Amino acid sequence: MDGATLTKTAPVLILLGPPGAGKGTQARMLEERFGLVQLSTGDLLRAAVAAGTDAGKEAKSVMESGGLVSDGIVLAILKDRLAEPDCAKGVVLDGFPRTTVQAEALDALLKASQQQIDAAISLEVVDAQMVTRISGRFTCGSCGEGYHDTFKAPKTLGICDNCGGTDMKRRADDNAETVISRLDAYHTQTAPLITYYDQKGVLKKIDAMGDINDIAKALAEIVAPVTV
Ligand code: ADP
Ligand code: ZN
Repeated sequence: MDGATLTKTAPVLILLGPPGAGKGTQARMLEERFGLVQLSTGDLLRAAVAAGTDAGKEAKSVMESGGLVSDGIVLAILKDRLAEPDCAKGVVLDGFPRTTVQAEALDALLKASQQQIDAAISLEVVDAQMVTRISGRFTCGSCGEGYHDTFKAPKTLGICDNCGGTDMKRRADDNAETVISRLDAYHTQTAPLITYYDQKGVLKKIDAMGDINDIAKALAEIVAPVTV
């Protein structure tokens, strides 16, 4: 694959963990704090679904059932996004790679730009609690800030702390049944990547069951040295 704008020195970080582990929340914080670009294949796929592209049409039903979208579609979407100039600042991959095929394709892509993975960070969580976490979550439709009914409610109900927006959105796949399929897909197809990155010597694990800010602090300790 070519066309990526990643430069030799641009940091490349991967966040691994099941749905609900907090990858999106933490990726956004890393983006703000370290000037990295959050690349969420889930967000890119949802945008494709909303735009009604061919890829979006194919992805829609798979996403609603909690399965994984085909590697071909995901890789095409990711590759296009990586080719945009802002990615030269460095990227936090959130929700990608999710299969061994995707991980190998990423390796090839990075090799072509003489780039490597600085860290693959596994957010370690207790599975049984992910259903509660996911079922309570929602996002500001204007700025994308993430919230949770119990764990991170906005200061004023219905109003975004970040931008004052009132258009809060809940994802169609954030319901108990779909979450169980998503957790299953994670364990069978994505969890093997923990070993994959451990063998490459880039794996870091952090406890992600605690307070959002404590997790952000633990992540920053890993990320700061690679972004200087
Ligand atoms: P979560 O991590 O909470 O499951 P995401 O927004 O990352 O949420 O993904 C939502 C859905 O989008 C997934 O359940 C899957 O169907 C699809 N998806 C996202 N990223 C990928 C990927 N890298 N490979 C295959 N499917 C993906
Ligand atoms: Zn907002």
